[in-house]
Amino acid sequence: MRFHCPHCNSQNTKTRSSLRVSATVTRAYVQCRNSACGFSWRMDCHAAFALTPPAKPAPGVLIPSSTLIDRKRAARQQAAAHAIEVARSHRGGRCA
Ligand SMILES: [Zn+2]
Repeated sequence: MRFHCPHCNSQNTKTRSSLRVSATVTRAYVQCRNSACGFSWRMDCHAAFALTPPAKPAPGVLIPSSTLIDRKRAARQQAAAHAIEVARSHRGGRCA
């Protein structure tokens, strides 16, 4: 897997090595191959959320489903929109 260099934005990078830290986290050591840059860094990649459920879930591995995240995000957006509406209605009351 190639990553963008955070400094020169080159895609000419190479994963030198990687290590499985846990069931959901992999640590990768990446080097930028742009000769004018040469930056190297460590990345910790984790399984953020599930897109499809596994056929055989491993015991103890908990990865939130994207639908749960979508529901939480929708609830936060609804709450924010409601707060804006309430603020507007209060502001409107003071001006009238
Ligand atoms: Zn670079």
